Amino acid sequence: MHSGFIEVIYLLSAILFIVGLKKLQSPVTARTGNQVAAVGMLLAVVATLFSQKILTPAEMIGGLVVGGFIGAVMAKRVQMTAMPELVAAFNGFGGLASALVAAAEIVRGAISVENLPVEALFPYLSILVGTITFSGSFIAFMKLSGKMSGNPVTIPGKYVVLVIFAVSMIASTGWIYFGGSPVMCLLVLAGLSLIFGILIVLPIGGADMPVIVAFLNALSGLAAAATGFVLSNTALIISGALVGASGIMLTNTMCVAMNRKLWEVLAGGIGGDSDEAEAGKLVDGRTITSTTPDDTAIMLSFARKVIIVPGYGLAVAQAQHQVRELADVLQERGVEVKYAVHPVAGRMPGHMNVLLAEANVPYDALFEMDEINHEFESTDVALIIGANDVVNPAARHDQSSPIYGMPILNVDHSKTVIFLKRSMRPGYSGVPNLLFFEPNTRMLFGDAKDSVSELIAEVKAV
Ligand code: NDP
Repeated sequence: MHSGFIEVIYLLSAILFIVGLKKLQSPVTARTGNQVAAVGMLLAVVATLFSQKILTPAEMIGGLVVGGFIGAVMAKRVQMTAMPELVAAFNGFGGLASALVAAAEIVRGAISVENLPVEALFPYLSILVGTITFSGSFIAFMKLSGKMSGNPVTIPGKYVVLVIFAVSMIASTGWIYFGGSPVMCLLVLAGLSLIFGILIVLPIGGADMPVIVAFLNALSGLAAAATGFVLSNTALIISGALVGASGIMLTNTMCVAMNRKLWEVLAGGIGGDSDEAEAGKLVDGRTITSTTPDDTAIMLSFARKVIIVPGYGLAVAQAQHQVRELADVLQERGVEVKYAVHPVAGRMPGHMNVLLAEANVPYDALFEMDEINHEFESTDVALIIGANDVVNPAARHDQSSPIYGMPILNVDHSKTVIFLKRSMRPGYSGVPNLLFFEPNTRMLFGDAKDSVSELIAEVKAV
């Protein structure tokens, strides 16, 4: 196929990627955005395979069908709550693929230090970043999927160890300019980078893991872009740069929403698996007021305004359809119902929007934190369904708390606050929530889906 024609197709794919990314900005257009970007990727893959005469058309169709089928099954079967770990796995494989392609180019001697001294660095850069992404994502996947503890792992003398590794990685790459065998340099660099990725992610607690997944996503993009330079493939350079840039922007958005700095997240040590011991400490010497579905239903039915605050527990319980039904039932009774969505509610950006969109909650009923925070003062009931950290007042005044400074939803300004959760366990940050003990707070214990279903029945009966 003519190389000019291939470049035009690559340009077209790049345009589709950018249009797709733009559409991902809003939940209304996100679905189309995903499809547009997928078409761009299909074009780029087919054009590359044709231009390099890598596969016959029959093999290509076979690969597309098998790969498409596996991807479709995985996407259909994955639980919303398991999305961050799926993304972690994808990032890891993306990084590994970039590193392997770069390694193959080194082994076949495609770029030599003598002929192209600057370009010769690109495959090593790709191996460095790709391998760190692979091993770091593997640890992130294990932590997020619960296959290993989400607690931060302390590494004695961590910074000294990391500096030694970083210097060794630079030295093993620089070795190619001093007569080192390229294959040997690549093996040493790959080994060191694998361990480095593990050392970086191990000390990071579960609460920060989604931020790290976004960061590793950015790294996988950079590895792909570096491999794009190795192969002189425009599509790979552009798509890698887009993934890198959007990943960095996403990481930054998440850090801002949690009032954390990226270096603080990378330093690790915060947030692990919350446990019952933590919950026990919280209950000591304080009392809570628990409530029942029928009392809550009466309160909701006679409220003028109710704000629903969804959180991670809503995703765990998969209660989005019931929540929508409850809102409908209340609205039929003349109650004004709005949804307040915190930017880091759930376990990934946009988690709550996607969940509520699945239940066809109208977009104009969803309000971002800044839009709705002043409305809690005029709200009769703040109904908190499976959320915790995003409404924890410790973020406002407890300077010793790891979530200190994170903007929260001002639910405590409402007349009554009702928590729907299963126990007294804290949220993902592991920080106790003293709002549970406030006099205007009621705890409705149980799985969110069961509790909301009971509320629907009770409201209908009022
Ligand atoms: P939290 O993790 O703070 O709290 C979730 C609550 O849901 C828990 O207290 C849990 O209590 C409850 N829960 C769990 N399962 C159920 C169930 N089946 N039914 C009812 N309740 C349930 O969630 P938030 O959404 O408030 O906060 C998100 C946290 O994740 C923040 O700390 C944020 O910083 C962090 N994070 C979010 C990111 C994002 O992009 N969204 C990225 C990085 C971090 P119990 O066990 O008692 O039921």
